[in-house]
Amino acid sequence: MGTILRANLSQSMIYLDNNATTFLDDKVKEVMHLHINEEMGNPSSLHQWGQKSRTKLAEARRKIAACLKVNEQSLIFTSGATEALNTLVGSFSSPCHIITSSLEHLALLSPLTRLEERGVRISYLYPEKGRSAISLEAIEAAIESNTRLVALMAANNETGVLTDIEKIAHLCEKRSIFLLVDGVALLGKESLSLPRGVSAIVFSSHKIHGPTGAGLAIVKKEFPFSPLLVGGHQGFSKRAGTENLLGIIGMTEAISLLDHYLPKASEHMRSLRDHFEKRLCDSISDIIIHGKDEKRLPNTSNIAFLGIDGETLLIELDLRGIAASHGSACTSGAREPSRVLLNMGVDRKVAKSSLRFSFSRMNTLEEANQAAEVIVDLVRRLG
Ligand code: PLP
Repeated sequence: MGTILRANLSQSMIYLDNNATTFLDDKVKEVMHLHINEEMGNPSSLHQWGQKSRTKLAEARRKIAACLKVNEQSLIFTSGATEALNTLVGSFSSPCHIITSSLEHLALLSPLTRLEERGVRISYLYPEKGRSAISLEAIEAAIESNTRLVALMAANNETGVLTDIEKIAHLCEKRSIFLLVDGVALLGKESLSLPRGVSAIVFSSHKIHGPTGAGLAIVKKEFPFSPLLVGGHQGFSKRAGTENLLGIIGMTEAISLLDHYLPKASEHMRSLRDHFEKRLCDSISDIIIHGKDEKRLPNTSNIAFLGIDGETLLIELDLRGIAASHGSACTSGAREPSRVLLNMGVDRKVAKSSLRFSFSRMNTLEEANQAAEVIVDLVRRLG
């Protein structure tokens, strides 16, 4: 019964919450199924079953390194971006100074808060008035003699607004400061190139049509790395614990597929998103698209429907089979307006009326049209 209901739901559903998580790609499912049906051992075991797993793990490492054009040794498999960020941030200790922004995901902010409790000084930067990203100038002005780390997201998961990582990387390299990048929202949306000054970057499998429970840190050898999980010597002693081979295999396929889909997928998402926004702007007068005039991810649209309660709209949309979000998935259960929008200087009422719509390469023009139609209808009724 549950399965039937779910099947019906997913058929009629328009899923526009791809910055929270994405559906598994069919090819990823296929590769994971194949793996499940094989008899595999622990990659650390010496027998043939173990060695078979070890070979698969090495293959995954090789493939990912080739796709992302990085050194194999720089890859650390984790359970997701949260673990990767906790590990990398936890590698620093007092006394030092770290620069970050108030717009970061909690997966970065929370471990930074822990460091702060242990005496590390942290500067939380805010965007300038009317802007949605942290400027190079703001970072430059915040640098102190003992600044060791700048930690920032490449793209904001709530607004899609891009950070100018290339320029910041150049600055950090010049000033001999480590740069840690949260690349979660960016991967899979645009072709990726890692500027030289990036010391470490993290990604999450479930945001790119791969399985949950798998993620990645790419860490240059000069980064002052200290493992979060200690125990066995897996992953070159950088992350103890038996590897999640099934998740890693799924993630590897998801990463391998990026080259196949990009840059066409970017254009596809951008055209759906732009079409969706245009339809809404043509029919509703009182809307604000956050970060519209800035460089944004091609898939994300964060919109304030002025005079409408965002949460009510979100629930009504869900009842009509449309999935959107009220902010970051980790906090969207809360009734509070988005911290990111508030920290961008958005008025509290406006923030409360805002919803995030995030497309993936699997969405269609028909879905964008249908969703816009339903939203226009609901806004008229609720307004
Ligand atoms: N960073 C950003 C920008 C995210 O959107 C998320 C997840 O929502 C994370 C980090 C945490 O990723 P994970 O779910 O893999 O732990």
